[in-house]
Amino acid sequence: MGKLTGRTALVTGSSRGIGRATAIRLAREGALVAVHCSRDIPGADDTVATIEKEGGRSFAVAAELGVSGDVHALFLELERGLKERTGTATLDILVNNAGVMGGVAPEDVTPEQFDHLFAVNAKAPFFLLQRALRNLPDGGRVINISSGLTRFANPQEVAYAMTKGAIDQLTLHYAKYLGPRNITVNSVGPGITDNGAPVFDNPEAVAEMARYSVFERVGETKDVADVVAFLASDDARWITGSYLDASGGTLLR
Ligand code: NDP
Repeated sequence: MGKLTGRTALVTGSSRGIGRATAIRLAREGALVAVHCSRDIPGADDTVATIEKEGGRSFAVAAELGVSGDVHALFLELERGLKERTGTATLDILVNNAGVMGGVAPEDVTPEQFDHLFAVNAKAPFFLLQRALRNLPDGGRVINISSGLTRFANPQEVAYAMTKGAIDQLTLHYAKYLGPRNITVNSVGPGITDNGAPVFDNPEAVAEMARYSVFERVGETKDVADVVAFLASDDARWITGSYLDASGGTLLR
């Protein structure tokens, strides 16, 4: 029996990258996992197929975040999927993973880019958590994917890093709010993680990026997924309101 048998989970942005690895990992531990995406339906279907091939349970949920009505649309599908499979809309584990990067020089960030980053990376997780309060049982888990960029400077990502700073505040304050219900709320901060983007096919770029970690490699998605799975488990019941560095020692450089 897995550590999450009988639990349900939503992993936003799990059609690829860290979210996909997390969904697969949570399903391996026995959770029924809602795999979310906005447009990457083939990717979400592939994550579901991979989970089912391993004997796990999963279903796909599509809803664009960062737009009006996003949370309502997501929960409509989520609750339908959960009720069909479990008879209830209980959601034990919420992983706020979906996010967009910035990669724009500080002087070039436009108000529109700034608003989009905040809408997807900060506003959506806030309102997803607010909505999930109806579904989360006592003892539930909330895991917010932050970034090592909240701890060290990269001017090209200033607006993006600001959104992740907001995520850490979401973690801190909600951890106190939900403590009386034994719900833990934590942030996980990845460093550079190979999410399958084209840059990770370039050996020179990868070698350059590997220098940030004391382990002299870039992160793999499962490096982060394993940390999320730990926080989702009973083993992590005494950890809340924390920021777990999952950057391969990037901050030590
Ligand atoms: P990817 O770009 O590989 O995947 C992003 C996922 O989020 C996709 O499933 C995508 O689905 C979904 N998504 C993006 N925008 C939206 C939206 N507007 N509405 C709904 N879903 C959306 O991301 P990573 O795996 O690289 O990153 C995952 C998380 O980890 C992010 O929060 C990121 O900020 C964080 N992180 C990543 C690092 C890295 O080096 N990879 C480092 C530090 C933090 P779709 O295409 O369908 O929209």
